[in-house]
Amino acid sequence: MKYISTRHGSQGSPAPLDFEDVMLAGLARDGGLYLPAEWPQFSKAEIAAMKGKPYVEVAYRVMKPFVGNTFDESTFRRLIAEAYASFETPEVAPVKPLGDSGMHLLELFHGPTLAFKDVALQLLGRMLDHTLTARGQHATIVGATSGDTGSAAIEAVRDRKTIDIFMLHPRGRVSEVQRRQMTTILAPNVHNIAVQGTFDDCQDLAKACFNDLAFRDRHALTAVNSINFARVMAQIVYYFWAALKLGAPDRPIAFTVPSGNFGNAYAGYAAKQMGLPISHFVIAANSNDILARFFEQGAMTMTGVVATYSPSMDIQVSSNFERLLFDMYGRDGKALADAMTAFRSTGTLKVGANALGGVRELFDAGRVDEPGTLAAIADCLKRFGETIDPHTAVGYAVAQHHRRDPKTPMVVLATAHPAKFPDAVQKAIGVRPALPARLADLLDRTERVDGLPNDAGALKDMIDDRMAAAKPRVKVRT
Ligand SMILES: *Cc1c(COP(=O)(O)O)cnc(C)c1O
Repeated sequence: MKYISTRHGSQGSPAPLDFEDVMLAGLARDGGLYLPAEWPQFSKAEIAAMKGKPYVEVAYRVMKPFVGNTFDESTFRRLIAEAYASFETPEVAPVKPLGDSGMHLLELFHGPTLAFKDVALQLLGRMLDHTLTARGQHATIVGATSGDTGSAAIEAVRDRKTIDIFMLHPRGRVSEVQRRQMTTILAPNVHNIAVQGTFDDCQDLAKACFNDLAFRDRHALTAVNSINFARVMAQIVYYFWAALKLGAPDRPIAFTVPSGNFGNAYAGYAAKQMGLPISHFVIAANSNDILARFFEQGAMTMTGVVATYSPSMDIQVSSNFERLLFDMYGRDGKALADAMTAFRSTGTLKVGANALGGVRELFDAGRVDEPGTLAAIADCLKRFGETIDPHTAVGYAVAQHHRRDPKTPMVVLATAHPAKFPDAVQKAIGVRPALPARLADLLDRTERVDGLPNDAGALKDMIDDRMAAAKPRVKVRT
């Protein structure tokens, strides 16, 4: 399988790449996002044959066409098995009915850091390490996080000799649980940096590292944020998994996705393109509702970001949305590149009525405000006895208004464990959810973190210094 950039045909576009290079590169050099030139197709019989199989088997079958020959069969099976052995339940992603409402929770938070990002990152960390080891190479991950991505990425690559990770977070602006899930990982290849600034400042600092091509090449910088296609690939699996549990391929299934960067929802769209019978998606947003406004009005307009109870969805622009826009632009990379450039300068992108009509057949969207989020947590507990986190609550609240057909099961993606956001949950139901046993001592663990001003030069100096110091360690093994 070959991968192309969403901006292919524009200036600096790479030739089509294999999976291995796409995984290592993250973002394409023309500024676009990679996706497969064609979606692999699963027949009804092939989907039916996965019924009742364990999660890791479904994962192998769904992902095999994407990785091609990057891994041999036994290696790929082993990486998958190891990745999902880190989850607390052998089911990996349990599907729980909400009474007889026809709604279901797909629990994606049983991994090491209690949010759905572990599902993709636990596998990506292992795939990267395997590939780098085989090539005798070392890579450096530089990333910015407002919370969940950072801990999931750190947990995925901790103690790997082939990778160093520098993770920037805005000092004092992530929750204590989120910060400690990063800073208590004392592995020598993990570098936590608290930046004097906002999340956007952190992102700009990370970008400055990537835009300095000499620096980028010197350290073999790589990105594991949600624009990395390998993450999308791993997320496709649980759409198949949940749909199979609820009667696919003989019956259509609907999904509601609490969305920020649109990575998770895009994986669902991919599953649909591959042949999974999905009736429709509901894109659920908090007050930062750029996506909901797009599906309503056909225009994407940038506004400021407000802080909410569901911080992992507090985004200004959804980075993965470019992949869906690519299809709306008739897969014309040049036209999309021009539209994205204009969007960056004007703050608005409009699509035509035809393109909008097409995606609206498949996507509904809605938003819920802060009181609505807390009310949804309380409502779900009262009606169904389930305590949900504020991100899941956004999905739960929006889903109720978008059941197109009451006979079609509606799956709400439960993206985080309630204990990851205890303040909001306590506010909603008066009870503070307890951390799972394996994280019970999180608040007592030793932290290690460096402070840094909002200054790209200081960051690059730090990375240069650390990596110079680390060199002997790398050399010993090569
Ligand atoms: C990252 C995240 C989201 C948003 O997912 P996207 O793929 O960015 O749309 C939702 N909920 C939680 C808990 C998250 O960590």
